[in-house]
Amino acid sequence: MADRTFLDWPFFDERHRTFARDIDGWCDANAEVMHRHGDDDLDGDCRTILKALADGGWLKNAVPDAAGKLDVRTLCLTRETLARRSGLADFVFAMQGLGSGPISLFGTPEQKARWLPGVASGETIAAFALSEPEAGSDVAAMAMTARRDNNGWVLDGVKTFISNGGLADRYTVFARTGDGGAKGISAFVVDADTPGFEVVERIPLMAAHPLATIRFNNCRIDCDRLLGEPGQGFRIAMGTLDVFRSTVAAAALGFSRRAFDEAASRAVNRRLFGAPMSDLQLVQASLADMAVRIDASALLIYRAAWLKDQGAPRVTREAAMAKLYATDEAQVVIDQAVQLFGGLGVVSGNPVERLYREIRALRIYEGASEVQKIVIARQAPAAMEGA
Ligand SMILES: Cc1cc2nc3c(=O)[nH]c(=O)nc-3n(C[C@H](O)[C@H](O)[C@H](O)COP(=O)(O)OP(=O)(O)OC[C@H]3O[C@@H](n4cnc5c(N)ncnc54)[C@H](O)[C@@H]3O)c2cc1C
Repeated sequence: MADRTFLDWPFFDERHRTFARDIDGWCDANAEVMHRHGDDDLDGDCRTILKALADGGWLKNAVPDAAGKLDVRTLCLTRETLARRSGLADFVFAMQGLGSGPISLFGTPEQKARWLPGVASGETIAAFALSEPEAGSDVAAMAMTARRDNNGWVLDGVKTFISNGGLADRYTVFARTGDGGAKGISAFVVDADTPGFEVVERIPLMAAHPLATIRFNNCRIDCDRLLGEPGQGFRIAMGTLDVFRSTVAAAALGFSRRAFDEAASRAVNRRLFGAPMSDLQLVQASLADMAVRIDASALLIYRAAWLKDQGAPRVTREAAMAKLYATDEAQVVIDQAVQLFGGLGVVSGNPVERLYREIRALRIYEGASEVQKIVIARQAPAAMEGA
C-alpha cells in the first residue's frame, strides 16, 4: 500500500484528498486497461487507455475547469497516481495536458471553446511540437518557419521527438516568424489532416510511447490558428513548461513510490541468511534512503504546484527544482529497488525492471537535468540582483 500520509500536508485542500482517494480506487478497479496488451499495437493501447480515462472523467482535469483554472495539484496527483501503475497511462493523460497546454494558458476564449472540449472528452489527441533535430535544449536555435500569407500562415520545417507524433489529431507547433532568436518564435495550432503535414518516421523507445519525427511542407493554416501574438511563441512554450514541469516530476514520484513499495515488500518476504531480508541493516538503510528521496521530491513538487495554484505568475525556479530533483532521485530510487531484488530485478517484465526503463526519458524531456540547473541558477536571488 503506497504511502498516502503526504495528503495531510498543508499544500492540499480537502477536495484534493478526496480526488486522490477516488482516482486511486479507480486505478485499482481498472488496472487491466492501463497496460500494453502485446507488442504490436501501441497506438491501439493508447486509444484504449484514453477512452478509459475519458469515461472515468479524469481527462477533463487535463484542461482548465469551468472557471478557467488549471489546477496543478490535481494534475500532479493524477500523474503520480497513474505513474504508480503504468507509465503509458501517465503518458496518455500527460500529453492531453501538455499538447493543449498552450491553448489552455494562452488561447483566446474562442480558441479554448473550439479546441479544449475535444481534449477533455478524449475525442481529440493532442501533441506539443517544439523540438527539432538541431534545436532541443537550445530552443532559440529553432529553424522551422512560418511566413505570412494572404489568408493565414505557411509552415515549413521538421520537428522531432514529438510525443503522440503520428497518433495526435492536433499539434501545438512552434515556428520562426522573425529573426532574433527566442523573440522570433510564434505558436500555432495545426490539425494532422492539414495538407502538407506528414509523419516522417516513428521512433521506437526503450519504454514505448508514440514518438515521431514530423514534417511541414508548405503547410497552410488560417490566421485564427496563431496563439497569442507573433513573436510570443518562446514565452508561450516556457509558460507552458512552467506548469507541466512539476507534473513530470510527479510522474517520476509515482515511479519512485512504486519502486519503494515493490522493494519493501520484497525485503519483507525474501529470506536471506536465515531471516527476512528486511532484518539486514544495510537493507533497512537502503529503504530509508529511498524514503527520504521520495518525501523530499514530494515536498518540492507540491510546493511548486501549490504556489502556482495560489496564483503565482511564474514558478520557474520551483518547477525546475522539482523536476531536476524528482527525476534524478527517482532514477536512484529505482536503481536501489533493482539492487534489492537481486537477479529478479533485471528480469524482463518485473515491475522494477519496467520502471528502470520508464524513468530514463524523464531526465531528458521538457528540459534535461542540466538545463534545469541553469534555470535554477539564473533564478537564484543573487543572480536576479545581478551579483
Ligand atoms: C521520450 C521523449 C519524448 C519527447 N517528447 C517531446 C515532445 O512531445 N515535444 C517536444 O517538443 N520535444 C519532445 N522531446 C524532445 C526533448 O525535449 C529533447 O530531447 C530535449 O529537450 C533535449 O534535446 P536534444 O535531444 O536535442 O538534446 P541536446 O540538446 O543535444 O542535449 C544533449 C544533452 O546535453 C546536455 N545539455 C543540454 N544543455 C546543456 C548545457 N547548457 N550545459 C551542459 N549540458 C547540457 C543534456 O544532458 C542533454 O541531454 C522528447 C524527448 C524524448 C526523449
